[in-house]
Amino acid sequence: MDIAGNIKELRSLTDKYNCTLVAVSKTKPEEDIKQAYDAGHLDFGENKAQELTAKYEVLPKDIRWHMIGHMQSNKVKYIAPFVHLIHSVDSAKLLKEVNKQGRKANRKIACLLQLHIAKEESKFGLSEDGLFEILNGEALGNYEHVQINGLMGMATFTKDMAQVRKEFKNLKRIFDRVKNEIDRPNVKMDILSMGMSGDFEVALEEGSNMIRVGSKIFGERNYQ
Ligand SMILES: *Cc1c(COP(=O)(O)O)cnc(C)c1O
Repeated sequence: MDIAGNIKELRSLTDKYNCTLVAVSKTKPEEDIKQAYDAGHLDFGENKAQELTAKYEVLPKDIRWHMIGHMQSNKVKYIAPFVHLIHSVDSAKLLKEVNKQGRKANRKIACLLQLHIAKEESKFGLSEDGLFEILNGEALGNYEHVQINGLMGMATFTKDMAQVRKEFKNLKRIFDRVKNEIDRPNVKMDILSMGMSGDFEVALEEGSNMIRVGSKIFGERNYQ
């Protein structure tokens, strides 16, 4: 894989959309990340707290680490001191734990709330009602160590791009709804994280300003 070339090509597209490219490096070795880093890339995404932490420890400290995978509450403490953005907050319980660990680490942790927009039941995420329960809930008022910066969602894994587009449109609608309806100090809808290797073009057309791309940059993943 020409990792540096892939990054450059994608960045020329995302720049046009004022979109941030998160290079998803899960399962990939540090040398691959270094190639992207040496090409000037700083935003990397991982889906496991342990792998994220291990890579953070050995790679340059100006890398911005994005947590994009489903997390158990007991794993938050490992990434709280350094994580740049958690895309995958999918429950009130997890948000509470992020706030707790943010307090311990003496920082405000930037989060996206993950919505379930796909047809597949296996995917994680809040329902629209569940999202507004959190955003209107009393608890959020006491969370001084979390900042909700936007929403994340994953479309159905399918070649049917009309279906994917419909799901992204729905997420954008919910994003705009939050923008219009929620006025609280630690909620600021700046980031709409949607789009992966197979569907980022559609996502950009539908208003994404953060795409998470793995295999298109680093090649297919091998899971053991
Ligand atoms: C793995 C992963 C990606 C990237 O997937 P690709 O299809 O390789 O681009 C994006 N978002 C999440 C949440 C992921 O887990």
